[in-house]
Amino acid sequence: MLPRANRYNDEMIAQYTLKTLVRATGVGLHTGRKVELTLRPAPPDTGVVFRRLDVEPPVDIPVAPERVTDTRLCTAIERGGVRIATVEHLMSALAGLGVDNVYVDLTGPEVPIMDGSAAPFVFLIQSAGLEAQATPRRYIRVKKTVRVEDGDKWAELSPHEGFRLSFRIDFEHPVLARSGQSITIDLAEQSYVKEVSRARTFGFMREVESLRSAGLARGGTLDNALVMDDYRVLNEGGLRYADEFVKHKVLDAVGDLYMTGHLILGAFTAYKSGHGLNNKLLRTLLADATAWEWASYTDAVSPPAAILRLHPLAA
Ligand SMILES: [Zn+2]
Repeated sequence: MLPRANRYNDEMIAQYTLKTLVRATGVGLHTGRKVELTLRPAPPDTGVVFRRLDVEPPVDIPVAPERVTDTRLCTAIERGGVRIATVEHLMSALAGLGVDNVYVDLTGPEVPIMDGSAAPFVFLIQSAGLEAQATPRRYIRVKKTVRVEDGDKWAELSPHEGFRLSFRIDFEHPVLARSGQSITIDLAEQSYVKEVSRARTFGFMREVESLRSAGLARGGTLDNALVMDDYRVLNEGGLRYADEFVKHKVLDAVGDLYMTGHLILGAFTAYKSGHGLNNKLLRTLLADATAWEWASYTDAVSPPAAILRLHPLAA
């Protein structure tokens, strides 16, 4: 029995937006200042549109791979000199839950960092609820393997009927060496919410000190990142998952690959990749017209079961 909750009616996989507006307040990682975030329902084919309310007049920045800039601390998007930083974990939550259309209003230049994971955004989206729209979702389906490299780092997208991510990191740190440094998450079989969304961003005390002295990461605390010294995790309570580090890399990749505002059907495999290389992979895929195609599931084309299982919460 296929989960009908994924579908607008029996005949198609629909686009989804929020049922209602939801709001959260948090601190910006860069500025350390309070920011208000509002997620609002949006019509079909809107995609994800960020809006800076603190500039006059307000500026809209629809997500797009070419608007992404990788910074020392986070992923930012930029349009006409106006920037919004730290979009990646919210983008991950939107992709993980299958939100196609949403306005993201902000009263400052960055998305609040919250607890350094996607879980607070998941909670916010679940509080709003999802609403199916009368338009089929348009997936980006990978048709052939594309690969990008940077030194020993690499990332690949290949054809797969669903969405699966495999990631390997390689840190010579006692805590990381003990934790799992490689993982495969098949989102048709494993829950994004349970298995991925709670993984926090991580860093090392030495880096935090050098970022601070460069005037960065003013909002960074043990409340919004896993921080380690040379030997151990400094956060009280330790890890949320035994392999929280590599799971956070998967969380980041889910967000990075959603910068088109369209969900991907394919398999992602990466070694030591980051926001910059993930973005290059996405651009490389889109630049090759033979490497991908649009896919929608309507009454004429029924979806494979794995694709129906990708977003079970879209009810
Ligand atoms: Zn991250």
